[in-house]
Parts: sequence; C-alpha cells; structure tokens
Amino acid sequence: MNYKYLFGPVPSRRLGMSLGVDLVPFKTCTYNCIYCECGKTTHLTTDRKEYVPLKEVIAELKDYLDQKPALDFITFSGSGEPTLYSGIGKITDFLKTEYPNYKICLLTNGSLFHLKDLRKEVRSVDLIIPSLDAVSDTAFRKINRPSPQLNPQNIIEGLVSLRKEYPGQIWLEIFIVPGLNNTESELKALKEAIEKIQPDKVQLNTLDRPGTEDWVTPASQKELETIVSYLGTDKVEIIAKFQPGKKVAAYNKDIADTILRTIKRRPCTVQDLSEILGLHINELNKYIHTLIETERIETERKERGTFFRAKT
Ligand code: SF4
Repeated sequence: MNYKYLFGPVPSRRLGMSLGVDLVPFKTCTYNCIYCECGKTTHLTTDRKEYVPLKEVIAELKDYLDQKPALDFITFSGSGEPTLYSGIGKITDFLKTEYPNYKICLLTNGSLFHLKDLRKEVRSVDLIIPSLDAVSDTAFRKINRPSPQLNPQNIIEGLVSLRKEYPGQIWLEIFIVPGLNNTESELKALKEAIEKIQPDKVQLNTLDRPGTEDWVTPASQKELETIVSYLGTDKVEIIAKFQPGKKVAAYNKDIADTILRTIKRRPCTVQDLSEILGLHINELNKYIHTLIETERIETERKERGTFFRAKT
C-alpha cells in the first residue's frame, strides 16, 4: 500500500522510533512560525474539520499496524497543526481499541486546548507535547504569527484546563528565539505560565537548521543553560541532539545516502526532495538535521526557500 497519511517511522530525538500520522494538508496551521522547518503557512486557520478522509487514515493505519512493526510511538504530527483535524478523537479511539500496545503521542502547537471538545478527544493519548513560546502578545505575534482570533492568555488557560483533565504526560516545549523570548520580562512570564500549567517536563528547543525567516538565529548552548537555571526546576531540559549511532534501528542509512546522492546532482529544497523521493517532509527533515550536524551538507537561502547541497 502506498501511504498518503503515514510517514516514517522516523528517528525522533525524544520519541525513539516514531510512526508519523499527518492529518492536515501541507502547512494548514493556526500559526505561521518564523522558525517553521516546513516553510510558510499557506492555510492559516482555526477551523477544525475532517481535512482528509477519516476512513482512509484508518485503512492506512490498519494496513501498517497489522504487520506488527516495532515502534516506540505513533505520533500525530506533520507539516501542519494536527488538532485542526476534527477526527483526531475517532482515530485515537480506533488505535486504543484495536492496537492497545502502541503508545500515542500528539505533537501540537497547543493553541486550541481552550476547546473543551478537543480536550475530551485527546484524553487517551499517552503523551502530549504542546508548544508555548511566548506569553506577551507582542512576542507571541512576532514568533508564532498566529491566526488573529488566538491570544496567549486563552492558550495558557487552555493548557491549564488540559492539565486538570488529562491524565497522561505533558511535555511543554519552548522554542527560544534570541531577542524575542529570551528577555527578562518574557522569561519571567513564561516561568509564571509554567507554574500554572504544571507540565511533567519543560523542553527548550532552538534553531538547528534554517527556519522560514533567515534572520532567526539559534540560541547558544550557554544561553539555553542560563534559561534552564533561571526557570529553576528539575523538570527543565535542553532537547538533546539526535545521534544516529544511538538509534540504529530508526536511522536508515540508505535514505541518508539517497538524499546525499540527489543533492549532489543539484541543490534541492526539502519540498523538492519530497517530490523526487516520495518521502514525507517530516521524515526528510530528520535526516537533514543529522546530515547538517555531521557536516555532510550545507544550506543556501534563495527566493524559493532553503536549498541543501552536498559538501564536497
Ligand atoms: S512550527 Fe508548527 S505551529 Fe509553527 S507554523 Fe510550523 S507547523 Fe505550524
């Protein structure tokens, strides 16, 4: 079967071997983050809908999982915001009934948990990783460039309600953008929000390959460490870089070699690679991270986006 909605399994920094389930069309999102690795949002919306046919997603999951693959997680993620998908609860129920041995993770920007129905739909997911990058309206709009209906106070209240009602693990991710959310006042507000939300973990992330806007720079390890100690709880950590050697089962050397061979012929964007190789953008991004970290490829920004080329 040729899968349209499943991708991977991909080697994930946090989740081990993770089967991706992409529930919304490319760049359908409530945000248009300046650091997004998938490029600019083309459909900015807060409308929850059945963006792709529920029956088809379930048929693909059944086909794949009946082969009893070894997975650490089945993860709702992709190149848009998965909680926009109105059938997410039905898919979760299907997985928990038919394949109870698999753990489910939801990677989300966390913007829609003020919706009671959504909180109910995701109750049986094992792990939710929501983002919260800013508390002040100014930083929120600069970093996440959200749909105009959204505001950070509502989002924080949604996350507090999620914590009260949801029995699973919540790992809150904060993407640090130097100059925007590492100021004293923003960090103080984030610290207060964390105290209210009470996540099980807080994970700091930063740019490690070009994002949507070329002026976004990464925070240094030292800056991240300073923020960890400022936030001052043992729940805070810096997301470790993926190391291919430690995740042999999930890292497919053939895919990495194919990417290298392709960009040796001509530099490509991640979207070009996805079309040429028939691989999901998120799956490709995992390999691209590793190839950048191991200094086998370099990047160049052009009008059409970020191009990757093999180092000679
Ligand atoms: S990073 Fe996530 S939340 Fe932000 S625009 Fe990209 S897909 Fe949407």
